Amino acid sequence: MKGYTGNIGWVDLTRNSTTLIPTDERLIENYLGGRGFVIKLLFDQIPEGADPLGEDNVLVFASGPLNGTLAPTGGRWMVGAKSPANGILVSGNGGGLWGAEMKWAGLDALIIRGKSPHPCYLMVGDDKIEILPAQDLWGKDTWETEDMIQARHGDPQIRVLSIGIAGENRVSMASVFSEKVHHGGRGGTGAVMGSKNLKAVAVRGTQGVGIADPEALIAETGKINEIIKTESQYAIYSKYGSPKNTTAYAKLGGLTTRNGQSGIFAGFEKIEAENFYNNFKLKGHTKACFTCSMPCFHQHLVCEGKYAGTFGSGLQNSTIQCFGSKVGNDDPAALFAFHVATNRYGLDEISAGLAIAFAMECYQKEIISLKDTGGLALEWGSDTAIMGLLAQMARAQGLGKILGQGTQRAARHFGGGSEKFALQVKNLEISTVDPRVFPAWALGYAVASRGADHMRAFPTWEFGGTTETDLLKILGAPTAGERSATANKGKGVAFSEDIRAVTDSLQMCKTFSARKIGMPETTLGLLNAVTGRAWTETQLMRIGERINNLERLFNLRHGLKPADDTLPVRMLEEPLPDGASQGMVVELEPLLEDYYRSRDWRRDTGYPSPDKLRELGLDA
Ligand code: SF4
Repeated sequence: MKGYTGNIGWVDLTRNSTTLIPTDERLIENYLGGRGFVIKLLFDQIPEGADPLGEDNVLVFASGPLNGTLAPTGGRWMVGAKSPANGILVSGNGGGLWGAEMKWAGLDALIIRGKSPHPCYLMVGDDKIEILPAQDLWGKDTWETEDMIQARHGDPQIRVLSIGIAGENRVSMASVFSEKVHHGGRGGTGAVMGSKNLKAVAVRGTQGVGIADPEALIAETGKINEIIKTESQYAIYSKYGSPKNTTAYAKLGGLTTRNGQSGIFAGFEKIEAENFYNNFKLKGHTKACFTCSMPCFHQHLVCEGKYAGTFGSGLQNSTIQCFGSKVGNDDPAALFAFHVATNRYGLDEISAGLAIAFAMECYQKEIISLKDTGGLALEWGSDTAIMGLLAQMARAQGLGKILGQGTQRAARHFGGGSEKFALQVKNLEISTVDPRVFPAWALGYAVASRGADHMRAFPTWEFGGTTETDLLKILGAPTAGERSATANKGKGVAFSEDIRAVTDSLQMCKTFSARKIGMPETTLGLLNAVTGRAWTETQLMRIGERINNLERLFNLRHGLKPADDTLPVRMLEEPLPDGASQGMVVELEPLLEDYYRSRDWRRDTGYPSPDKLRELGLDA
């Protein structure tokens, strides 16, 4: 079919073998690409009881129909495996150019199994996969690895996806990084790569992508690039990137502060997006992912002080929180240095920041002491403590070794009632806004198929800016999108999870398509132009639903229980003590009830009903 390469690469690192097999048309029909391919291939390949860090775990990378074409944001890539953080699914979507290059190199997906006896990396060229030695790369950070591979092959256009030392040390919150800053996590994909002695996957392709109707694709692309200019996020992201979102959270008193003990951070003005724009942004050096017309990757440089010379990009809203308010730090230069350090170590910054915040609260409450920290005083905002713990986590040493395995496991280790304020779900740390402020986001954290994460549902309609027509489609009632409403929020989250699964499978950016562009009737034109097929909105929504249900079945097979769909005690029982949302907690039960009903999943077992499985063709 047009829009696909027709090839899936298979690599067995134990046997030192590589091969190409044809892409099954049924895989395309039922799962579309990207995230859909990842879950179907993982579901079929990973046996029950597989060790996440063992040879029987499988790592899958996938491209999608829009990758490498003119379609907006077509440079993304998808990765997935069984997670070492929680034993269920980990899959993540990264940006940049790596996904387009993979497609040009001729692959719809790449399946990696086994374990190499020595460090290695993959070099994927036009329809060819080589396993090459990487002893000299082992111990290098993600930036050095990329530079060394490009230099070795004499080609700066090779796109490199790699792990840092955190992945080598099999840290449960290690991610994989492409082009130094785009990471596909969360939940330990980097550790899975490290466990296979796989340092990097480099891609370079020169093949084009067959497009069924190029003129229609140009027209559809133009249409979407016009829509994005009318959306609220366009001007904000193009100037500041996602960090500006934290300003709205701060006004609502939903800026998770000192590990969620407050919703207000006194030093917020110093770490606000405006401050980064005025003092650190390299004007005129904004970056966008491949074919994206909303460039949100701004480059920053610290020019003076202790962190002078620190350079990088990709500061996110989550960075402002995880290395700012959550750990009580109001020094923007230090905050940026933590961000760059995690990129180079190959650590998931959201999980790392929250694990440190958790440790700081344990220290504040004298659950742990200097004896446990190796002499590091874990005072709120201490840059010495934060940088020290990041290094320990990446090296799997000292207290960092415990924290790097996730806050749920750390809380079990520390005891003293600390599990109540371990801000995680399924051992994945809560990523952005405080759930007590937004019910749909709270529900999304509780049920997301990889643990607490905002990008699975990404219910932006709760922030406003969604048209009444779309609200009716998503929620069944326009007022259900309001922050104070709880009715129909389960239905809305299920719908949003389905459309986000479609977006991840097309390989489109969810930030770019947060509102109108993400609706299936808008993206349909791009898909039909590329493939030459007459896909329908109903078909797309059914694919999104199938993906979410198969992810559910994967997780149940690997030990998930319905009781795991919950939130930390702090979010359910400790009202926000101050600010505009003072007194709020999450009333989770009615939200869950509505969500399970909308999904047609049983509350007692967590399984989809037999009718639902039949309807989605998952009953075989
Ligand atoms: S919106 Fe930002 S993250 Fe998304 S594709 Fe564009 S540049 Fe990349």
